[in-house]
Amino acid sequence: MPVPVPVTRFAPSPTGLLHLGHAWSAWQAWRRAQDGGGRFLLRIEDIDTGRCRPEFEAAIYEDLAWLGLDWERPVLRQSEHFGRYRAALAAIREQGLAYPCFCTRADIRREIEAAGGAPHGAPHGPPHGARGNPQEPGGGLRYPGTCRGLAPTDRQARIDGGAAHAWRLDAAAAAARCGPLIWRDEIAGEVPVDPAVFGDVVLARKDVPTSYHLAVTVDDALQGVTLVVRGEDLFAATHVHRLLQAILGLPAPLYRHHPLLLDAGGKRFAKRDRAMTIRSLREKGLSPADAVALAAGWRTG
Ligand code: GLU
Repeated sequence: MPVPVPVTRFAPSPTGLLHLGHAWSAWQAWRRAQDGGGRFLLRIEDIDTGRCRPEFEAAIYEDLAWLGLDWERPVLRQSEHFGRYRAALAAIREQGLAYPCFCTRADIRREIEAAGGAPHGAPHGPPHGARGNPQEPGGGLRYPGTCRGLAPTDRQARIDGGAAHAWRLDAAAAAARCGPLIWRDEIAGEVPVDPAVFGDVVLARKDVPTSYHLAVTVDDALQGVTLVVRGEDLFAATHVHRLLQAILGLPAPLYRHHPLLLDAGGKRFAKRDRAMTIRSLREKGLSPADAVALAAGWRTG
């Protein structure tokens, strides 16, 4: 599956220091752009204004520069583009494919339990941005659709009354509108979209006028990304992204969801694992080439 001119990107959230797993992901994206005579872009995914910190953003630039992964300027910072995400949400709402959701996380949990189900997340855990994200109602829980059936007058009355609400995708209606979809992954091949994987995902949070899913879909298209290189933990999220691309009339890039580096316990690195941050490796005296070689030879899963 050749990509004509690979435009790749690295899209970290500045909520902690980058670790070896990030370096590996960024390096692979950078390398693909280099090898194919393409472009490597950097996007700062800082919509979660409560958790993102300027010092972590500064550390991202510092770490990538140290690794020698030169990115094209200007960097896109998502917090500067909320208007664009609002417009995308409006386009989805105009098609009747989004609805306001007034539920709290506790409401969602109660509803699922009352229906006799154990609250369960989506495959591979929730996508990043919603990964254990306290701001997203339901966190990694699949939304049972409680607010989908509210009468329009009831919705409006609650909104007019100032009730806090998120906006959710009506995934089944969106899928019915678009018909069968696929995306292409360099490793997994042709993947049929399963709109039920995450169900009615949040498009705009109560506190932020977008969500990870909406912002990433809009920006990959806006930046002209043709090859999305990212970790396997985001594989399932691509079902959502492909569906959003179809609704919004955006092009579908090629994907490469690469295996994740695992720690000694078989778990993927987390930002809290301080020993494997790029900064700590640098302070231990590793060279950038050592760090890349370390990542390339690391255990994956
Ligand atoms: N911001 C996400 C993260 O830090 C990555 C999003 C993506 O690559 O699509 O994991």
